[in-house]
Order: sequence, then structure tokens, then C-alpha cells
Amino acid sequence: MRNVRMTLVAASVLVLGPAVGPAAAQNARALLQAADNAIGASKVNSIQYTGTGRISYLGQNFTTTDDWPRVDLKSWSQTFDYGGKSAKEEMVRVQGNNPARGGGAGFPITGEQRSTTLVSGNYAWTLNAQGQPQAQNDQAELRQFMIWVTPHGFIKAALADPNATMTDREFIGAGRTLRVVGFTTMGKYKATGEFNAQNMLERVVTWIPNPVMGDMQVEIRYTDWRDVGNGIKAPFHAHMHQGDHPLVRGMNYMDVQASDVKANIESASLTVPDAVRSAAAPRVTIQTTKLADGAWLIGGGSHNSVAVEFKDFAVIVEAPLDDARTDAVIAETKRLIPGKQIRYVVNTHHHWDHSGGLRAAAAEGATIVTNELNKDFYERVLLVPQPRSLGPDRLSQFPFATTGPGPGKLETYRERHAITDGDQSIVSYHVDGFNHAGDMAIVYLPKSKILISADMGPPAAGTPVANVSPSSVALYNNIKRLKLEVSQHVPIHGNPSSNADFERTVGPAAARARPAGPEGGN
Ligand SMILES: [Zn+2]
Repeated sequence: MRNVRMTLVAASVLVLGPAVGPAAAQNARALLQAADNAIGASKVNSIQYTGTGRISYLGQNFTTTDDWPRVDLKSWSQTFDYGGKSAKEEMVRVQGNNPARGGGAGFPITGEQRSTTLVSGNYAWTLNAQGQPQAQNDQAELRQFMIWVTPHGFIKAALADPNATMTDREFIGAGRTLRVVGFTTMGKYKATGEFNAQNMLERVVTWIPNPVMGDMQVEIRYTDWRDVGNGIKAPFHAHMHQGDHPLVRGMNYMDVQASDVKANIESASLTVPDAVRSAAAPRVTIQTTKLADGAWLIGGGSHNSVAVEFKDFAVIVEAPLDDARTDAVIAETKRLIPGKQIRYVVNTHHHWDHSGGLRAAAAEGATIVTNELNKDFYERVLLVPQPRSLGPDRLSQFPFATTGPGPGKLETYRERHAITDGDQSIVSYHVDGFNHAGDMAIVYLPKSKILISADMGPPAAGTPVANVSPSSVALYNNIKRLKLEVSQHVPIHGNPSSNADFERTVGPAAARARPAGPEGGN
């Protein structure tokens, strides 16, 4: 027991600074009450921000150290109903002048991309193009937490935590001392807030769970405070980082400037649609198709993997999404290829939806094959052994000792990597001239002439030339450059298709496409 207690104390010192104990709690309370008076937080039942700005696609950067790919918010509005624990966010995204480099659903944007995301207590949903609700209840907890890091929400939630603490923090260089309050809400989420001499909340630093980043740091800076009536003040400008890590200076996620802020509006409360209330929890589904002798497509979800049998071991191509998905892929591979160790997991690229299961691969003891561009990030961020308190996974719960023997190592390459036993082979090739990801690989199985690709199409057979994407043209050009003899295309998203169809559909588009410029423009 003593040991357990010591560990807990040490952990909270790390998070909240040295000022723990009853005095710190009293100081926190006094500061929070002064902060409440300063902005009228207790008087705010609901608040609506409307404006413009920019937002980024998290985990979809060109390389691991680039900033997130960014688009403009032609319009943005966010409504919080604190009593109802509900929030609604509406956005219209446009590409603007932002470089078309990186990934993300619908990126780069042609025209306008509209989205509405909602949360009410334990229910979360979005609206489809027809305005019908689509349940996203697995995201309710996180969306609800984000209500408590808004300025008024922060003060409400911190006042509700009897164990909230405070510490003075000297910002050397800036020449100022701020007071930092830390609190816990919803049983597990911690947040800290920096208050200035006028008791105004300048910045929130918090953590949210993420399969790649672990307890992922989120920073929100609130500025341009203005009176919005009835003794209530609100920040008209917010700047948010998500996913900052030791190898970069900062990862910009969102920057919004309000043109209008209204407190205590009539229509803030949300009604949970029946379809959302009764929606079943999403579960991991596995659907296996044999592709060739010793090669299986493991589908059933948004991302496929491929299991390949070698004489003495098994290999998985792609460990997507998260622990849950990849653990299911690992279990299916063991069923398909019994009694053989999964020696390698081949990664197509670093985007989080394609690398979120690499920790499960490491926990399994597999060697991860990836482009050398990812080496530092994978070794020093993705695979690091520090605790993941908000979203524990297999590797954090059953870590390897740092003194070894370690997990399967990383094998990196610049242009080409091969795994072979003389009969079966898997060859990863770096993809040239592709704006989506600088580390992108296509993965070729010479024996069965299968080519595995991610985020490059192929388009449906018969797609008109004008609608063939630059990504599919890049795939075509790389197949020609590498002189690969392909019979079957196996995409990470969607269904396998023949190379004959690919030639017919993409060939004319590739012939038409002009050579790419320095940005590979499209
Ligand atoms: Zn991608």
C-alpha cells in the first residue's frame, strides 16, 4: 500500500507542480472565485461563439515533423450548454490558400466541406449531408470533457473539484509569474489553467487519449477578452495546439476569431435523437478473404490489413487505427497461420489511422518495417514506454524493460525493403511524387503479383478520366517507374480490384497528367 501511495503522490507532483495539500486547495478556491468574478463564469448557463478561422487534420501531416495540414474555416460556430453538458460545433471548411500537402478525409478540399458535431451527456453524433443524425457515442466522453476546458467551463469544473490545486509558475524570459490551477473532472481527465494578475484565464494545458500519442497534450490560448453583457466576459480569439511532441516546436490545430459571442441564448439545449440514444456500441469486425496462396485480406472495418505466410513466420501488412483493431488483426492472423510467430508488421505510412496499431504490433514482439523518415518519431514518441493513463493499451500495461530484451526493433529503409524466405516475399517501395505523405510505401508481393496501397485509390472501374484522382495517377506512375508486374490491387481502404481495370481507368488519366511541379501540384 505504501508503495502505491508514494507512486500516486509522485504522479500528481509531476502533473500539478509542488503545491499540493490543503493550503494549495484553499488557494486554488480563492483564485477560482476571483476568476469567476472577473469573467462571470457562474452566470453563464450557455454561450455561443460565431466566427471564422482555420483548422487542421490531426495526424495527417506530410512527414512526422511537419505541421498538420491546414484549411480555412469560412464559418465556425460553437455553442455550449453547461447545465446540459452539451455542445454543438458547426464548420464550413474550404481549402483557401493552404498547401495541398498531407492527408485527411476530403483533403485537399474542393468547394466546401460542412460538418456538425454534437454531444449531450453520454451521447454524441454528427449530421450527414441529408441532415440525419449519425451516432458517435464512443466520442461522447471526450467531447464532453472539452466543454470543461472552455474558459467558463474550466472555472465551473475546477470549482466543482474539492481537490483542485494551485501553484505559482514563473515564466522566465517572459518575466512574469502566473498562477496555475490543476483539477480533475469526469473521474480521469486532468486540466491545468494559467491565470494572470487580473485573474483572467490565459491558457489551458490538458491531455486527451490518443492511440499514437498516448496522453496527448492539448494547449489552448484565450485572448481578446471582451464584455458580452451582464458582467460576463469572453475571449474572442482562441488558438489551439494538439499533438505537440519533443521533436517539433508546435503543432497548430485550430485558430478561431469570433465576430460575435452571445451568453445565455435560448436555443442552446440539445435533444438527443432516438437513433443516437438507441445506437449499438461500435465493435471491431473481422472479415477475411483469401487473396492467393499464403495471403489473406483481413477486412471488415474502415481499414484493411493483409496477412502473409512465410516458411517460418507470419507477416502483417498494416496495423491500423488502434489497439482494439490491430489486436483483432493479430488474433485473426494467428488463426489463419497457426503456430508461426508474427515476425514483421509492415507499415504503409505514418498517418495516425495507419499507424495507431503499431504499438500493438510492438507488444506482440514484431519488428516494424517503415520508411527511415519515421524512425525518430516511432522510436521516441509512438513506441515510448511512458504510462498512458487516459487510454491504456497492451504495450503500456505490459511494457518491456528498458534494459532489454526489448520489443522487436524497427527496420527502416529509404527506397526499398524486402522480407523473403526464397519463396514468399514482401517488398516495400517508397512512393515518389506523392503529396499525401512523404514516407508513403506501396507493398508488393512478387509471388502473387499483389500490390497493396494506401490512400491512392484505385478508383472504381469505369471512373471517367476527369474524376481519376492525382493519388491514383501517382500510384500508376510509381508502378511504371518500378516496373512492377501487378495482377491484383489490394487497397487498405475498400475492395481488391484487377490491374486490367486499373490500366483501363487510370492509364488515360496518367497520360494526360502534366509532370508535377515542386509541390507536385494537382
Ligand atoms: Zn494517409
